[in-house]
Amino acid sequence: MMYADIIVDISHEKLDRSFQYRVPLEMEDEIQVGMVVTIPFGNGNHERKGYVIGLSKEPELDPSKIKPLKGISSSQETTEEKLIVLAAWMKERYGSTMAQALKTVLPVREKVRSKEKRRILLNINEEEAIALAEKLEKSRCKARARILRALCEKPELDYTEAAKNLGMTSSVLNPLVEQGVIRIQQDEVYRIPVKGEAIPREKLSELTEPQKKVLDQIQEEWKRESPRPVLIHGVTGSGKTQVYMKLIEQVVEQGRQVIVLIPEISLTYQTVRRFYGWFGEKVSVLNSRLSLGERYDQFRRAKQGEIQIMVGPRSALFTPFSRLGLIIIDEEHEQTYKSESSPRYHAREVAVQRAVQEGACVVMGSATPSLEAYCRAEAGEYLLTKLTVRFEERPLPEVSVVDLRGELKAGNRSILSRKLKDSIEKRLERGEQSILFLNRRGFAGFVSCRSCGEVLKCPHCDVSLTEHNNGKLICHYCGYERPAVAKCPSCGSPYIGGFKAGTQQIEQVLHKTFPKAQVLRMDYDTTRNKGSYEKILSSFAAHEADILVGTQMIVKGHNFPDVTLVGAVAADLSLYASDYRCAERTFQLLTQAVGRSGRGRKPGEAVIQTYHPEHYSIQAAATQDYEAFYQAEMSYRILMDYPPAAHMLSILAAGEDEKLLSQGMEYLGKFVGTVGEKYKVHVIGPASASVGKINDIYHKVIYLKHQDEKVLMDIKDKAEKYIEINSGFRKLYIQFDYAG
Ligand code: ADP
Ligand code: ZN
Ligand code: ZN
Repeated sequence: MMYADIIVDISHEKLDRSFQYRVPLEMEDEIQVGMVVTIPFGNGNHERKGYVIGLSKEPELDPSKIKPLKGISSSQETTEEKLIVLAAWMKERYGSTMAQALKTVLPVREKVRSKEKRRILLNINEEEAIALAEKLEKSRCKARARILRALCEKPELDYTEAAKNLGMTSSVLNPLVEQGVIRIQQDEVYRIPVKGEAIPREKLSELTEPQKKVLDQIQEEWKRESPRPVLIHGVTGSGKTQVYMKLIEQVVEQGRQVIVLIPEISLTYQTVRRFYGWFGEKVSVLNSRLSLGERYDQFRRAKQGEIQIMVGPRSALFTPFSRLGLIIIDEEHEQTYKSESSPRYHAREVAVQRAVQEGACVVMGSATPSLEAYCRAEAGEYLLTKLTVRFEERPLPEVSVVDLRGELKAGNRSILSRKLKDSIEKRLERGEQSILFLNRRGFAGFVSCRSCGEVLKCPHCDVSLTEHNNGKLICHYCGYERPAVAKCPSCGSPYIGGFKAGTQQIEQVLHKTFPKAQVLRMDYDTTRNKGSYEKILSSFAAHEADILVGTQMIVKGHNFPDVTLVGAVAADLSLYASDYRCAERTFQLLTQAVGRSGRGRKPGEAVIQTYHPEHYSIQAAATQDYEAFYQAEMSYRILMDYPPAAHMLSILAAGEDEKLLSQGMEYLGKFVGTVGEKYKVHVIGPASASVGKINDIYHKVIYLKHQDEKVLMDIKDKAEKYIEINSGFRKLYIQFDYAG
C-alpha cells in the first residue's frame, strides 16, 4: 500500500501541515511528488485540490481511517504547480524537507492584509447628478450636494481625501449609496517599493561591434530546439549590461517575462533607476529589506501580468511569471547566489532547472566566472561567449604588484608602499579619484600578545575579537563586546595590542600622509545605519571626496568614471581562509577591484600589495588573465578532488550539547562511510566547522567527495532516513550542502 502526504492550502504560512491519503493501486505508478491531486477534504468530504509533497509505505494512522485520493489532476498548468515541481527537485538535490523547499519557492501570504484604497464613483449621469444636487441644496443637504458637484468635475474621488476636503462622513454618503446614486469601490493597492516619482525614460544604447557579435551568437543559440544556458565572459566595463538589456527588450516584445538576478550589494538606487529608465512600468524590484507582505504584492503583480521584468537577488528567481522567457544572472560568480539556509540551493543551478521546465533561456555574465560555470561552458554544456575589450577600447588598468617584504627591508613600515603612496599623490595633483580596499572586514583589529602569541577570542564563537577605535573589543559573528585589556590574560605580559591595518587605520594614515585629501570610509561600522551605504557611494560618485577606503563591499559592480587608481592594501588576506575556494575568491576580488579603475575616459592604474607576489591568483589578477587562473586552479581542484572536478556533499550539524553532537556525528560518519564503501566514496571528518562555535552552539561537519553525483545523492537519501529513525539526532540540527 502506498500513501501520499498532501498539503491543501499552499498559500498558508504553515506549509508543514500535511494530510495522509491512500494512493489507489492504479495510480501508484503515475503519482509523483509535486503533482496536483483531487482529494476529499473535511467533514463534508468536499473535493479539494491538494499537492503531493511526499510518498511513503508507512501509514500514520489506522489504515482503515485513511481516505483514498480521488484522482491526479496535474498537467503542470498553473505557475504554482510548476513551482511545486521545482521545489520537489530542490528538495531532492539539496536535501531539505519539502516544507522548507515550498516555503522557498512559493510566495507566502502574510497575515497583514495589503493596504486598501477606497474610491467614490458616480452611478448616474452628470445631468441627473446636477439636478439632484440642486434639489439637495434646496433641502439643505449641503454636504451631499457638494459630493455630487465634485463628482461632476472629477469622475472619481479618493475616499480619504474627500472625507478631509469636503467634510463628509459615512452618514452623509450612505443614503446616496443606498439610493444607487454613487458607489464606493475598494481596490487593493500594491506596496510598490520604489517611490512613484517620474523617472525619465531612456533609450537603449546602440551596441558596439563586439557586443553585437555576442548578441548574434546568443540569438543563434536561441533558435535551437533546446537552447543551452549562455555564459558571457566579459572583462570589466565591456558592456555586458548593454547586451542583457537588448535581450530583455526582445523577450518582453514577444510577450514573455524576464527575471534579472543581481547581487544584493548592487541593488542600489542607481541600478533600480536605470531599469525604470529603460523599461518603466514593466519593472518591479525585490530586495531583502522588503516585508513579506511587500514581497507577496510584487509576486502577485507578476502573476497577474502587471509587470514583465523582475529585478532582485536570488529569491527573485521564484517570481511566479506565467510565461517566463529569460533569466539573467549578473555577476554570476557572486557568493550571494548560494543560499545559506536549507535548502542550500545555488541560484545558477535552480535557474537552469526552472528554465528547462518552462522553456525559458538563461544568460549569465561575469568578468570572473565561477569555476563551476566556466567548466560547464568549456565542456559545451553552456554556450561560451566573450567580450574581450572594454567599451570604446578603453584600456584595462596597468597593474603593479608590490612585495611587502621588500618594503620592510627598505625600511618602510607604513601600510602604504612607496609605489602606492606615489600613485595616490599623482591622483591628488590631477584631481582624480582613488579607491583603497582591504579585503577582510576588520581583519587587522585582532589583538595578540607579542610575548606568548595568545590571540584574544570571543568566548562564544571561537573567532578573534576585533579592536575598535573606542578601545572596545568586538566579535563580528555574535556582537559580543568587552573592554580592552592591559595585560595578556595568559602570561601577564603588558605587550599586547592590535595589528594596525584595519580600514580605520588606513583612513588615519591617509589623513596624516595627505592632510588636504578628502577621505570617505565604507565598512561594517560606517554602513550599519539604513541608507548610509547609498549616501557614501553617491557622495563619492559626485566627486565629493578624493579617496574611498573600504572593505570588499566597495569593489563590487560600481561605476565611478573618475577613479583612476585602485590599491589593494593587503591583497593576500583572503588567501588564509580555511576554504578550498579561497584562491578563487582572492582572484575574483582582485580582478573586480582592479576593474574599478579607469572605467571613464582616463586610463587607470592599480597597485596590489602582497606578501605572496608569486601566488597564481595574484599573478593572474595582475595580468587580468582569467584563462591562466582557470587552468591553474582547475588542476588544483582535480588534484584534490574538489568541485567542480568532483562532487561534494557536506553534512553540517549544530547543537548545544557538544558531547551529543560529537557522538551523533561519529555515528553518522561511520554510517555514510559504510554506505559509501563499495563506491569508494571519500569521507572527511567529522571535524569542527571552520568556525567551531557560534553563540554557544557547536558546529561540526562531514565532507563526502565522489565523481558521480548520483552516488552522493543516494547516500544523502539514506543518511536522511538514518537521521529520521534514530532519536539521538533529535536535538541536533542537521543540514546538507551540495556542490559540484
Ligand atoms: P560591464 O557590465 O561589462 O562591467 P557596463 O555595461 O557597465 O559593463 O559598461 C561599462 C560602461 O561602458 C558603462 O558606463 C556603459 O554605459 C558604457 N557602455 C558600454 N557599452 C556601451 C554602448 N554600446 N553604448 C554606450 N555606452 C556603453
Ligand atoms: Zn601572553
Ligand atoms: Zn561571538
